[in-house]
Order: sequence, then structure tokens, then C-alpha cells
Amino acid sequence: MDLFHLTKKAPMTIEPPLPELPIDADKLDKLARVAVHTGLGLAPGQDLLMTAPLAALPLVRLITEHAYKAGAGIVTTLYSDEVTTLARYRNAPDESFDKANGWLYEGMAKAFGSNTARLAIAGDNPLMLANEDPDKVSRANKANSIAYKPAMEKIVTFETNWNIVSFPNPAWAKVVFPNEPLDIAIAKLAKAIFAASRVDADDPVAAWADHNATLHRRRDWLNAQRFDALHFTGPGTDLTVGLADGHAWKGGASPAKNGITCNPNIPTEEVFTTPHARRVNGHVRSTKPLSHQGTLIDEIEVTFEEGRIVSAKASKGEAVLQKVLDTDEGARRLGEVALVPHSSPISQSGILFYNTLFDENAACHIALGQCYSECFENSGSLTPDAIKQQGGNSSLIHIDWMIGSGEIDIDGITASGERVPVFRKGEWT
Ligand code: ZN
Ligand code: ZN
Repeated sequence: MDLFHLTKKAPMTIEPPLPELPIDADKLDKLARVAVHTGLGLAPGQDLLMTAPLAALPLVRLITEHAYKAGAGIVTTLYSDEVTTLARYRNAPDESFDKANGWLYEGMAKAFGSNTARLAIAGDNPLMLANEDPDKVSRANKANSIAYKPAMEKIVTFETNWNIVSFPNPAWAKVVFPNEPLDIAIAKLAKAIFAASRVDADDPVAAWADHNATLHRRRDWLNAQRFDALHFTGPGTDLTVGLADGHAWKGGASPAKNGITCNPNIPTEEVFTTPHARRVNGHVRSTKPLSHQGTLIDEIEVTFEEGRIVSAKASKGEAVLQKVLDTDEGARRLGEVALVPHSSPISQSGILFYNTLFDENAACHIALGQCYSECFENSGSLTPDAIKQQGGNSSLIHIDWMIGSGEIDIDGITASGERVPVFRKGEWT
């Protein structure tokens, strides 16, 4: 019986070699610096909980180093791995797909509720689960969403500072650039991530301060307009999105409840707010494929009546879409509307990333499901009931999908019915 491996405290310090990846080491280090200082705004003494695909180990190590240099308390990383994830789908007993490790998520909720910062490194293979049983995929997702809800709530209500960055995982690179040899694909994805994350600049932390100022200007203009609704028109789209009563637009860096200002997404190009869950009408067509939990949903077309999706189809992944919509009552209603100009650097790269963190920042988007309670005036003092009354949606899911393009026009409609041009041909007026 070996107890030693459970109890030992000081592991031997032989570093396993990292794979040689065609990634600019200097820019990867800048990305780690941006994640810690701009993304998290990590405060001295704060603990950090990170989740990452195993392939992102080089970035995990750099972030950990910058976090400790910034005075972090304890940095903990939970890894995920494609091979072991697939081992579950192919070998685990059927009933296990209704289970989730609640003990872990309880611990995470406890951590986020006591000032631990949260960082996620995105970079999973977007098609990892494309060939697995959609029923198992949706059951496992649902069980996870339920178990994770208390922790997720701490994140969506900004109880603590959090951030998502990404790493050019080889499996992801191969999906984005399927016709390139692997090393070229990784190099191209790395370059695109660095450009979108603004770490090409000499001083990326200063570049982010400028970018935040631009996003804050747009946010402030929208907040001053007090629009009652937005009207989207374009090919296949004629959609009126009523905005929640007392909604507030957000975008760029924002303060969390623990007093720390963070940039939750790196990259980010959006300003966003809460739609009214019962005042969305018309039809809308997606403009980019949606990569959802390892599957792809393409050419979504839905019709809304009084906030609720009454019909939905997709050219690809329709079964998954229907299951998503059946998650709960709130899954058929909107929780977010976001404005992104067609000229955003991510859109201009012309790359489809198969990753919401990037693709949602290439186009205006809407999200099915849970709203951000932060996107209200006086959000701190609103009860869940008040948020619901004012039009905020609640659901186990929050799924962004892209409806913007160079062909989309948006008008703001005021309470008195006056129309103000907001976007023309995909750009701010
Ligand atoms: Zn968004
Ligand atoms: Zn969203």
C-alpha cells in the first residue's frame, strides 16, 4: 500500500520537457502579463483558481509566475484533457452522464465567494465531442450546469475578479486551419490570438488602457440614449429586441464587487446589455457557425414571439440546438444583446475561430439564457425578483451566437418611438 504519493509535500524538481511549439515566447509572456494585470487586476494576497487544457501548460506556467510576482497567495490549476474526456464518453456507464462532481463545484463557489480570483484558459478542441452521442453530451452538460450554478452565479454577479484568455492548443489550431501542416496551423492561430489580445504592442497593458477608454465611450453614449428597444435588419433578419427596464450597458474593464477592476474577456470588442425577456419579436438568422460544447451549430434561424423562441432550425447541429432550447424555460429567451462593429480586428482577420471568446467579438450577437444581473442600473441592490420583473432572464445556459455582419443595420428606438441610427452596414454611425 502506497500512501506516500498521497501525503508527500515536496515533489522532486525535475521539469518535464515542454513540447517545442512554434509560438513566439516573448508574446506568450506578454499574454500572461496581460491576463494577470489587465484581465484579472490580481491584487496582492489574492488566491487564484485557474482552469486550463493540458496543452496550455506553457501559458499556465507563465501566468503562475506573473501571478506570484504580483503577490498572489496560492495559485491552483485544474487541467482538462481531450483524451481523458473522450475516455469518459466511450467507456463510462450510461447513468453516470447525469452526474457531476458537485464537491468540486461547491469548493469553487466557496473560493469565489471568499475573494479567490478566477482565470480560465480557453483552447479546447471545438469539435472534441462532435462524434459523441448528443444525448450523453447534453445530459452531461446539464448535470454540470446544475452543479456549477452556485459557482457560476458568483462569476456572473462579479463577486470576484475573473478573466478568460486563450492558448493556441494544437487540436484547436487544426480545426481552424485544417489544410495547413500542424506547425503552420499552430503558428497562425498563435499570431491571431496575440493580435486579437493586443499583445503585439510594446506595452500591451497600456494598449489595453486605450482600448478600454474606447469601449467606455461607446457604453456611456448608449447609456445616455436610454433606448427602449433595438431594431436589427439584414439578410434573413428583422428583429426587435426590447431592452430590460433600467438596463445598463457594459463593456471593457469593470469593477467586481470585491473592489477590483477586471477585464473579464481577453479579447473583447463588445458593449452589451440585458434584453427584456418578454419583449423580443421577429426573426433572425445567425451569421457565423456556433461552436457549442464540442459540436457545431450552423445557419440558425429562429422566430421570437413576445420574447420566446417559437420556431428554430439549423442547417447543421439542429438536434443539439433543439436540446439546448429545451434545457429550461429561460433557454428560449434572450439574456444578452451585444454590439460589435464589423471592422473589429477579429472580424477583419477573416478567421472563424470556432470559439465564442473570439467569434462573438467579430460580430453583433445575442445570447440565449441567463442575463448578467450587472447589466442593470443599481444592480447591487436588485433582488432576483426585481431583475425578473424588469425583464431579466434566468436559465442554466448562456449561449452567445452571432447575428452581425457588414450588412446589418441597427436603429435604437426611444420610449416615444423615435428612431436613432446606431449601426449602418455593420459599423457605428
Ligand atoms: Zn457578449
Ligand atoms: Zn454572452
